[in-house]
Formats: sequence, structure tokens, C-alpha cells
Amino acid sequence: MNGRSTEVFQIEKHPNPVEAEKRETLLQNPGFGRVFTDHMATIQYSEGRGWYDAKICPRAPFSFDPATLVLHYAQEIFEGMKAYRLPDGGATLFRPDANARRFRNSADRLAMPLLPENLFVDSVRELVRIDKEWIPSTDGSALYLRPFMVATEAVLGMKPSPEYLYCVVATPVGAYFKGSAPAVTIWVSDQFTRAAPGGTGDAKCGGNYAASLAAQAEAIREGCEQVVFLDAVERRWVEELGGMNVFFVFADGSLQTPPLTGTILPGITRASLITLARDLGFVVREEPYAIDQWEADAKSGRLVEAFACGTAAVVTSIGRVKGRKHEFTIGDGGAGQVTGRLRTALLDIQNGRAPDHHGWLDRLF
Ligand SMILES: *Cc1c(COP(=O)(O)O)cnc(C)c1O
Repeated sequence: MNGRSTEVFQIEKHPNPVEAEKRETLLQNPGFGRVFTDHMATIQYSEGRGWYDAKICPRAPFSFDPATLVLHYAQEIFEGMKAYRLPDGGATLFRPDANARRFRNSADRLAMPLLPENLFVDSVRELVRIDKEWIPSTDGSALYLRPFMVATEAVLGMKPSPEYLYCVVATPVGAYFKGSAPAVTIWVSDQFTRAAPGGTGDAKCGGNYAASLAAQAEAIREGCEQVVFLDAVERRWVEELGGMNVFFVFADGSLQTPPLTGTILPGITRASLITLARDLGFVVREEPYAIDQWEADAKSGRLVEAFACGTAAVVTSIGRVKGRKHEFTIGDGGAGQVTGRLRTALLDIQNGRAPDHHGWLDRLF
């Protein structure tokens, strides 16, 4: 059940938005998540009233009581998605219904109220429309959207909050990598795990990220860009990176990615790439893959490429893998061919350069 809401967004325009000239300068080189648009979307929830006070308003800090629940027990979930410029100057979202559904699944796991899908999608659409001048148009750039929800009751009692704040902010982002995407080196964490069976691994909650930071810091100390996590039970099966799903490409032209068994975040990029790879004629398996097998296959040449994927960085080749018990190079250590093909296929749809056969685009204007 999706519980459609008839709540309408009140629009309160920013009295003095960033000037056009300054905005254009900021859009030249926005980085990631540092520059924000003029507005935000907010919706309130309380147990008695349900969802209320939906609005688009000037972006501003919140004021919270020090006892506010989210500050203590991390009852928080979020989403990550993008609005893309189209060649004709229009703009589109990519599968926002999938983000809305995942947000509801995350809410359910964190004992939070389920935001109706139409309210989620409308909040994002309305925000992008009012801040449309902030969608960058340079190649590989987009307007990154961050919907999130926090528990707002001010009481230290350990229970689900009866009150919540839902919010969406938007930040223009450049291409994650300039030019052709290089390959990253990843660190196999043998000390830390990201998610255990029955835990919150398949919910998009801030707590998962907080728990992965020590492993990510270790990866950086070891000269790697990212960490790859193994399963928590056997410490054997490759699960995913801190914030990206992982795929393996074999010499026989097949692809493999770990199955969604509850400890892996169900990426929308992952799901889209499975579909696109099958469209292109590749066999794609959703099956577990052991770290030792990965090393053996990379060394024997049975495995020729590996890549990580997610909304922010899209598709990134994995060139080398390091760990206390592992050290191997994949292919020639550079960006893979199949990886590049899939990356281009996805970006071409998102940017309106290729036909949208699967009905993934949600055109805004
Ligand atoms: C968000 C996220 C992903 C990628 O999901 P997309 O929908 O493809 O952006 C993968 N892993 C984790 C842990 C994530 O939080």
C-alpha cells in the first residue's frame, strides 16, 4: 500500500536568492555537496496529524532542542538522486519512484512513518522546478538531491519518535571524475564489517555510514580510495563498498554482482545496470562471490574487470585490490571496456542522448 496523500506544497520564494552571476560562477566548479540551491522542501509529521505543512521555502538552518531524538539515537534515513539537464534545455529525474519506494523501506526498518510515494516525488519535483537555474549543464554534471528524515521529539526516552521532519536539499555537482574515469584502488576490510544479517544494511540510514567511517579511514591510510566490505558471518563473500554496489566482469562476457540478501543496499544504479547489461546481450548473475575467488580469477585472467556503482559517482572501475591478506590487479589496472560501455549507456539515457526504452525518465520541464 502506497497511501497517496492529497497534501499540497505551499511555495514560499526566497526574498533574495543568489544573484545569477554568482550562481554561474559557483556552477563552474561546484565540487560535491558544498554549494546549495536557494530553497528546500520540508514536510512535518506527527502521530496525531500525519503528514502536514508541506512547503518549499528558503533554505535555512534548523533549530533543535539538545534532547532531540535524532541527535542521540540516530533515527535518520536519507536518499540520493539527481536531476539531469536534457539536450533541449529541459530537465529530468531518473526513476524517482524507486527512490520513493526505497525511502519507505528504510523508514519501515528504522520504525519511522512511511512517506507516501507521491509526496516524496512531488517534494523533489517542486524543489527542482523552483531551483531549476541551479541544474548545471556541463557534461557529467547534475543537480544532486538529498531527501532525508529525522526524529524530532525532544525527549531522551529510548523509543521511536512520535514526530519527524522530512526535508530535501539540492546541490549542483560536477562530474565526479574529470575526463575519463580512472580506476580506483580498494581496501579489503578484514577487521570491520558494514552490515550483519538482521541489521540495517539494506536501509539507507546515516548510522550505516557512521559505522563505516573507521574502515574508510583505514583504507585511506593504506593508500586506497575506498573500502570493500565482506559479509559479517563468514568474512568471505564480497558485499559492497561503503556507498556503492560492486560488479565483476568475466573474460567469457558474463557479469556477476552479489545478491540482495538483506545486508546489501539495493542500489538503483545496480538494478538499472543489470537491465542495461542484459539489453546489451550480457549474461548477468546475482550470485555470491568470494574474495579468494576474486583474487584467483583476477590472477588467472578469468576475471577481466570490476566496477563500483552508485548515483554519485555513477560507474567507477576498480583497478587494484589490497588487504592484509590480498593484493591483486584487475586486467591492466585501468578503466575497463565493458565498464565504460555500461557507464556510457546509463549516462546517455540519464542525459537524454539515448532513447528511454524502460520509462525511467520523469521529465520535469
Ligand atoms: C546509496 C547507496 C548505494 C547506491 O545506491 P544508488 O541507488 O545506486 O545510488 C550503494 N550502497 C550503499 C551503502 C548506499 O548507501
